[in-house]
Amino acid sequence: MMLLPPTTEMYRALVERDASFEGLFYACVRTTGIFCRPTCHARKPKPENVEFAGTIQEALHRGYRPCQLCEPMSAGPAAPNWLAPLLDEIKRDPDLKLRDQDLRARGLDPVQVRRAFKRGFGMTFQAYQRACRLGTAMKALHGGARTLDAGLDAGFDSDSGFREAFAKVFGDAPGRARDTALLVASWIETPLGPMLAIAGDEGLELLEFVDRRALETELRELGRKWKRAIVPGDHAILDRTAAQLSEYFAGARRAFDIPLKLQGSPFQIAAWQALCDIPYGETRSYADMARRVGSPGAVRAIGRANGQNRLCVVVPCHRVIQADGSLCGYGGGRWRKQWLLDHERGARVRPTV
Ligand SMILES: [Zn+2]
Repeated sequence: MMLLPPTTEMYRALVERDASFEGLFYACVRTTGIFCRPTCHARKPKPENVEFAGTIQEALHRGYRPCQLCEPMSAGPAAPNWLAPLLDEIKRDPDLKLRDQDLRARGLDPVQVRRAFKRGFGMTFQAYQRACRLGTAMKALHGGARTLDAGLDAGFDSDSGFREAFAKVFGDAPGRARDTALLVASWIETPLGPMLAIAGDEGLELLEFVDRRALETELRELGRKWKRAIVPGDHAILDRTAAQLSEYFAGARRAFDIPLKLQGSPFQIAAWQALCDIPYGETRSYADMARRVGSPGAVRAIGRANGQNRLCVVVPCHRVIQADGSLCGYGGGRWRKQWLLDHERGARVRPTV
């Protein structure tokens, strides 16, 4: 995944149907809820009605569906004919969860399906399904205040499809979920792709890139294990998070000042707190972190706790690397970890050094 070209440049390419931008961005049309290739022959939207996504996955996460004219999800040699019936089926029912045996029952080879998706759309079949499911639920979140003002009243109720999709991903809406603290979810744009932020009065509880594989599991955990009901909306802590993230990505902020609600085992919490002590622009090894929490032998457990961090970027798990300097895994994708470390290193370099 790459960062997007400047918006004016993308809009020009869209209007001129510039084929050299093919694959670099997708145009998401707010008024119709569909996404297009730059070269689509449909009438072009006004600038204020279009937003741009770097990948198909991102467009799906924003709740857009593929255009039937330029077919971003099916044209080209990358999407073979045998895949078409499956794509149609999922398009009709985005919540459809197909396992390997379901694919075999349709005469499809799961390995081939996985490969064709990865090659054609830059994501696995599982990631595609996840993107469709999440996308429906995320629609209102990234749509901004207009939709959210309606909140649980008009907007939420009148669109029962959305309500259902939202409940499926975020757990039961309040009313049915008694004795649960209320959390508010919102969508935050960053140069590395959109993030989902969830906060309550006690602090920020989740901040993740929307395409993170573990996101659905984390949301289920918040709901069931930690007894939190999640609704779309605005919250002062979320505003603060968005503002500080924007400063961070602009290179104007090195530390976050946001109340965090860490929920986990005492070991996990100690591990996450230790992460917050790693200064901006520096890195530590897993062994360093294990010593830091007083369990030098617990290197693997430290790795696991890092992977379970739900507060991406603000609890800087990206600052932990292998002893030999290699990056190893990152929930938000290794390219993001590299980007964050480069970003922090770059901002640190001063002429006096
Ligand atoms: Zn189109």
